[in-house]
Amino acid sequence: MKHLIHVALLATLPLTAACTAAAQAKPSASQAEVAKIYDRLLPQIDKIPIYDNHSHATFPDDSDMDAQAAPPDESSVLRLRDTNPEFVAAAKSLFDYPYDDFSPEHARWLIDKKKAAEASGNTAYWDSILDKLNIETCLANRVALASYLDPKRFHWVFFVDSFLFPFNNRDVSSKNGDLGVYIPLQEKVLQRYEKQKSISGIPADLAAYESFVRQTVIDNQKKGGVAMKFEAAYFRSLYFSDPPREKAEAIYTKYHSGGVPSDDEYRIFQDYIFRVLIDQAGKLNLPVHFHSAVGIGDYFSLRNGNPLNLENVIRDPRYKNVAFVLIHGGYPYTLEMIWLTAAKNVYTDSSLVGYYVYPSELKNILKQWISLYPEKIMFGSDAFPFNDAVGAEETFWLAARSARTAVAQALAELVSENAITESKALELARMYLHDNASKLYGDKK
Ligand SMILES: [Zn+2]
Repeated sequence: MKHLIHVALLATLPLTAACTAAAQAKPSASQAEVAKIYDRLLPQIDKIPIYDNHSHATFPDDSDMDAQAAPPDESSVLRLRDTNPEFVAAAKSLFDYPYDDFSPEHARWLIDKKKAAEASGNTAYWDSILDKLNIETCLANRVALASYLDPKRFHWVFFVDSFLFPFNNRDVSSKNGDLGVYIPLQEKVLQRYEKQKSISGIPADLAAYESFVRQTVIDNQKKGGVAMKFEAAYFRSLYFSDPPREKAEAIYTKYHSGGVPSDDEYRIFQDYIFRVLIDQAGKLNLPVHFHSAVGIGDYFSLRNGNPLNLENVIRDPRYKNVAFVLIHGGYPYTLEMIWLTAAKNVYTDSSLVGYYVYPSELKNILKQWISLYPEKIMFGSDAFPFNDAVGAEETFWLAARSARTAVAQALAELVSENAITESKALELARMYLHDNASKLYGDKK
């Protein structure tokens, strides 16, 4: 019915408005036509300053780069293996790297250069990397702020998963080798937060624990935090039930000073504290980031990490004021993801997926997203150091180059198919690369 009303309205519109799309969209166009449009769009897209929704800008030996570490054994995707020649291209472009491979003696040249930048201790180095890639602003996921990152360019996203693990974690950690690495690191982050609030060990009752959780979030926001981040998909299902407070309180009372909770007890407690965090995010107007895609490690559960698990939370009217940012595009569930963003307060980004797949495939994903909810998608680099030679610098380059070329191709196709005009294409590119994120985080520009 609604469609009929719209069509009727359209008929009464002045001719100029009705004629902006001059012809009906068609399913394909000639490759030569697309290439011509691409060549016109790309130089203009290169000029758009990027707002990077997700990165780990860091030197490789800085343990604050993430709240977790690489699992003991991981199978890297083809593009991220050391043999990818694109990393050499990145080093050449950023540093005039004089070699064509990363043999140990050649890689030394690059490592020495980065060590010297780290030793200098000032913020000019990372600013210069952003400048070379025309990245204006960048969210930095870190356990704590780093003195070598310029707070004007790098905005802090802090981790909150540790609040879900306050009890004896013996059983969780021993489930598999990956959790054996991850969970002790969560315990460390929680201890760090305790130190920050000058307490040793967790409080004696749930009310005091909740207040510790809420106050820590307030403190982190005051220190410059622009969003909180859950990496929960690495530890458990993204499905969070809605248990009554009394249940969580009974579990807290039973285990706060010792004893190992059962899987069910721990999950119920976590589901409750998770909702305290979401509620606090709403009160503080603080966006909430989720790792929502495949993850590294041999034990990552695709089923548990599927962002559809979050549907009951992101569609809950109690949280309609919370901005949910489901990062990594839900990959491989990118189509489900764009439909999750149909809710006004849900966003996604192309971090991680943008360097897992090649630009030809990223183009397909972006074309689909742009065709549906273009105001809800953001660029993210997930820049991360892979080793001492290939660092966050090279992955910033790989992600930025991939996204600019992929979005140019996606838009060129849409223009050639008569779906949009070239000026609309540039507007959509600006939304994806910069404006949507800048609007979400309230940057005055
Ligand atoms: Zn990341």
